This record gives sequence, structure tokens and C-alpha cells, in this order.
Amino acid sequence: MLGNHLQKTALAAGAIGLALTCVTLSIAGKTRATVASEKYDVVIANGRVMDPESGLDAVRSVGISGGKIVTVSSGALAGKTTIDAKGLVVAPGFIDLHQHGQDAENYGAKAADGVTTALELEVGVADVDSWYTAREGKALINYGASAGHIPARMVVMHDPGQLLPSGDAAHREATPAEIEEILSLVEKGLRRGAVAVGLGPAYTEAATNWEITQVFRVAAKYHASCHVHIRSVIPGSEGHFEGFEEVIAAAAISGAPLHIVHIQSTGGPNVVHELQMISEARVRGMDVTTESYPYTMGMTSIQSALFDGKENEADGYFASLLWPATGEHLTRESFARYRKSGGMVILPSNTQENVDAAIESPLTMIASDGHLHEGKGHPRTAGTYARVLGHYVREKRTLDLMTALRKMTLMPAQRLEKRAPMFKEKGRIRVGADADITVFDPERILDKATYEKPLQYSEGIQFVLVNGVAVVKDGKLVDGVFPGRAARAPIS
Ligand SMILES: [Zn+2]
Repeated sequence: MLGNHLQKTALAAGAIGLALTCVTLSIAGKTRATVASEKYDVVIANGRVMDPESGLDAVRSVGISGGKIVTVSSGALAGKTTIDAKGLVVAPGFIDLHQHGQDAENYGAKAADGVTTALELEVGVADVDSWYTAREGKALINYGASAGHIPARMVVMHDPGQLLPSGDAAHREATPAEIEEILSLVEKGLRRGAVAVGLGPAYTEAATNWEITQVFRVAAKYHASCHVHIRSVIPGSEGHFEGFEEVIAAAAISGAPLHIVHIQSTGGPNVVHELQMISEARVRGMDVTTESYPYTMGMTSIQSALFDGKENEADGYFASLLWPATGEHLTRESFARYRKSGGMVILPSNTQENVDAAIESPLTMIASDGHLHEGKGHPRTAGTYARVLGHYVREKRTLDLMTALRKMTLMPAQRLEKRAPMFKEKGRIRVGADADITVFDPERILDKATYEKPLQYSEGIQFVLVNGVAVVKDGKLVDGVFPGRAARAPIS
């Protein structure tokens, strides 16, 4: 229903554009230029417009009114505001399917990296309504969330953990009554317009295969994709991939679309084989997709189940862990201490070779897994998109620019548009689409965020528009604007 409404709005916006053109031509006594200067709210002039859906890659001007793209023209356009994009790429705004940090600090870092829509889909939320309400009218960029199995399990099983479970929700099998409660919370979230379902069997390790399959069944009823952090590969067990098989099976059985998150880390030694298997499953008609971020280190909660039993590791293991709050490498003693007090830890997650394979595969979408808190966190939050465009596209030349943009824009929009039809108007530069647009210098774009300074904004991203409003201007964040809107599925 909401989808239809939005489509009608888009058509109406197109009709208004047309009506204005007629008015322009029929007003006598005014010069053409004077009238034309009133035409569009914003014009992005003479940029290299790249649209992965149509394949358009040419110098064009984009006219924007009412938050929508109203024209894409090879002729000159005039607007109330004109952005000179000569020599710059004009692309659809990047859609990040995996962004945990959902506050002003995180939205600023995302916008500076070209992201116009940031979605918390892996972990998701338990109370969908209050999550959306809290951001209404206050967000720099568009925002959205999934109905999360992890937080639902934490609510029902009274887990004391923060973002991720550290108590019963991680370590205890749910009773049949608890599973019913968890499923009904996930279903309630979907009825309230959650854009997907989030799962992390790696973090809810005591959840049975049956419980996971049940969650997929609920998602299937609502055509919602399941965004899953699959169970970890046991180190040294190349060729074994039970966590991968669990979710492929659940998707095949239930019919729910499956999206495996950050395959470059959870794939472990099997990344290349898992990419091959996803491609084969797609040939067989399964709706399976995946994503990747361009870093060899990961970050997660030290109290999560991923670290169960790690206190017995060799000394070298602890030294490989980085505590971003202080910048220290851990020891056996500090690991035990932080495991009690809690917090985020940065850990080696895969080899450069496997990360490169995942980023360069045409199958993967780019998604950051970002999370910053008071300037501390992982550089992927602020640097993922510029890193792919600067490092892989320009420096290494292992990805062509259009393919890279497709992985950041059209593919994530298509992943969600069956469930949330508003995404049919995102991830594209065409008439009627939302004016979420990123304008960058392909010769200069580069990530600047590091493990030591994760909040350093990317360079070369010159203008970012969210619903037609500039949130980055001349390479600088704009203060005091909140054009971000809810990215949400129809409420039923
Ligand atoms: Zn994850």
C-alpha cells in the first residue's frame, strides 16, 4: 500500500515537472532565462552521471525538485541552487545494509563517506516502532532497521548484554514457549514495517537449527530477506561450513530470501568456495545474496559468544586483539578483565587475499558493519565506500567503477525492494527516483579512517544530497539539516 502511494507521488512529481515546463514556455514578457532560473530546486550540472541500472555513463545535468530527480538532461538546466560537478562522478547515494551505529555521530561519518541510507539489518531491533519514532525528523541520512532475532531473544530470555547477548540469549536453548514469544516479537516487527529480519546464530549459539528455521518461516510470510551472521568456522577446518549450510537449508526450506553478511570474515578459509556456492544456488533459482567490507580486521563485543573458551588460547592470540577505546593490544590479563567489564574489540578476521576475493566478486554488495561511539570504533564505519572506490577501483584497478557503484547502490536497493517497495526509487539516477545522490572526485577519493583514528572522514566526496538536501557541500558536512527519512516497509 505504501509502495503504491510512493509510486503515485513519484508520478505526481514528474507531472509537476512537466507542468512547470509548460508554464515556463507560456509566460509572455519574461526572458526564457529568468523563468528557467526558477525551475529546479537544485541542479547538479555537467557531471559524469553514472546509473548502474540503465548503464548511463555520460556528461549530464540532473534537475531536482521536491526531493526527487525530475530530469536528467544533456542540455543546460537552471536551478535555485546549482552544483558544478564538472570532472566529478554523479552517482546514486550509497545504501549501507549493515550499519549498527544509528546516531548523529555515525550518520555524519556515513554521509562523509557517501552513504545516504544506513540500515541496521544484521542485529536489528526488538521494538521497531519506537526505533523509527526516535529518529523522525532528527536524521542527517535515511535510516531503517530489521526485526532482529538476536534482540528478540535477548528480551524474551532477559539477557543482560548491550548490543549482543552475553547471558541466556547466547548460551541457553529456548523452551518451546520462549521460541513462540521470540517468533511473535519478530513477526510484530515485520507488521510494523521492519525492512528485513536479522539473525546471528554465531551470537545466539545455543539457538537450535530448528529455531533458526522457524525464524526464516516467519520472514518468508512477509517476503523479508534474512540478514545473517552465520555460525563461525572452527579454525583450521577449511572445507567445513556448517554455519553456511544451516542458512542455505533454512532458505531452501522456508522460501525466505537469504543475505549472508560480511562473507569476507565469516567465510573464514572458505570465502572463495562460499561465493561459488552462492552463485550456484542462484543459478538454481534461490534468492541468496551477500556483502563484504574491505578490511582484514573485524570488530565485535568482547562479551559475545564468539570469545567463549578463548581464555585458553596462546599468548600471541591476545596480542592480536586491539582495544579501540585505549588503543592497547590485549594480554591474557586484560582480556579477562575486559571480558567482565564489556566493550568492543577489534580482531583479525581474514587474510588480505580472501578479503580481496570477496570485494572484487561481482556477487557481493558493499556494506560497512559500522559502529562508532565517541570517536572510537572500527575505520570501516567512516571509510568503507571511499576505500573501495579509491583503493580497489583507482589504485588496484581490480574493480571497474560502474561495477563498484552497482555493489553500493542498485544491488542493495534491489535486495530490499520486494519487501519495501520504496527502495525501487533508491539506488538509481533516473526521473522519479529519490534525490539521494553522491558526487565525488574519482581521482581523489580515498578513505582516511584508520584503526588509530577511525573518525577521520573520507576525502574526495564533494557533495552528498539526501532527498534533495545537501548534507555534504564542497567536501564538508553541513550542520543543522535533517533530511533523512524512514526507510520502512509497508505497515500491515
Ligand atoms: Zn556481524
